[in-house]
Amino acid sequence: MHPIHVGRPNIGDRQTFLNRVNEILDRNWLTNNGPVVQEFEKKLAEYLGVGHVVAMCNGTVALEIAIRALELEGEVILPSYTFIATAHAIHWQGLTPVFADINPATHNLDANAVKRMITPKTSGIIGVHLWGRGADVDGLQDIANEYELKLMFDAAHAFGCSYQGKMIGNFGACEVFSFHATKFFNSIEGGAIATNDDELAEKLNLMRNFGFAGFDNVIYPGTNGKMNEICAAMGLTNLEYLDEILKVNRRNYLTYQKLIQPIQGISLLPYDQTESNNFQYIILEVDPDFPVSRDTLVDKFHEANILARKYFWPGCHNMKPYKDLFPNANLLLKNTELVADRVIVLPTGLAMDLDNIHKVVEILVSCI
Ligand SMILES: *Cc1c(COP(=O)(O)O)cnc(C)c1O
Repeated sequence: MHPIHVGRPNIGDRQTFLNRVNEILDRNWLTNNGPVVQEFEKKLAEYLGVGHVVAMCNGTVALEIAIRALELEGEVILPSYTFIATAHAIHWQGLTPVFADINPATHNLDANAVKRMITPKTSGIIGVHLWGRGADVDGLQDIANEYELKLMFDAAHAFGCSYQGKMIGNFGACEVFSFHATKFFNSIEGGAIATNDDELAEKLNLMRNFGFAGFDNVIYPGTNGKMNEICAAMGLTNLEYLDEILKVNRRNYLTYQKLIQPIQGISLLPYDQTESNNFQYIILEVDPDFPVSRDTLVDKFHEANILARKYFWPGCHNMKPYKDLFPNANLLLKNTELVADRVIVLPTGLAMDLDNIHKVVEILVSCI
């Protein structure tokens, strides 16, 4: 049996993709804002109902460019319970990431905890829509308004998700998506920044292309954040396949939910069915009173060739660069550590069928 991974790529129609690649090669236009990238951006903006989508080479560079474009400085508040790239993007820009605690019920930033971390040096907040569940957008926006801070979102998990009925991509000053191969919707490598701010969109466009405003005319210190045509071709192809991927993810989630609900001592983090969801992450939480510890359970899955994962354990603040910089950060991150010690991410996506879900659940039942 092949191992079943978390984050196996979902790939749309192969022939459609190959046809697009052939057209790209015939056209001999491989990158530098080619027609496939432009079409991809247009389709994404339509899908999200947002004014501008600026495609990027990956989500991390997109975060860095967004941070630069918003002119963040000094300290930037973010959750520690996120993928390390959120913290690195801040650090890489010479700024100080300041970790705020999460709400253990949602795994997203706790607005009151954010408030407590504000100092005179704070310039912005990066919220994360963790697992594709909308962050407390209103709570964070209120704080940003009150303290005159910039607010942006790492929406790497949240493509196809809504917050109070409106598509994520429309909140804060801008929102950053990742289309990495492990995300439920991928362009091999890729990312994008969505914004309704015309001026900001123009700035992002310049910054991703070395600041070139035309031939021989550089007006900005930019970098290379461009998406290439082949990646955009994969993105477009998978966008056409999105409903199919969503259907399978939703079925997998509902099946997991039904089978896991009766088991004492473990729970699935629920999706809010009144919102659009991508059902990308199946989040199992293991209670301390479950007969088997979280770590032992992960080992049992691995023995059965099911590569379930601890995610964002032990929290960014416990990763070496940040642990050394802020050795006492843990004192204010109790919920982060609580959640990081409980979570197992289970596999889903096109590669996961119902038989395999039953297998996962059998392992859970065998522990009791
Ligand atoms: C995947 C991810 C990123 C980074 O995106 P890449 O496209 O891999 O650079 C950033 N933040 C979060 C929360 C992610 O999950």
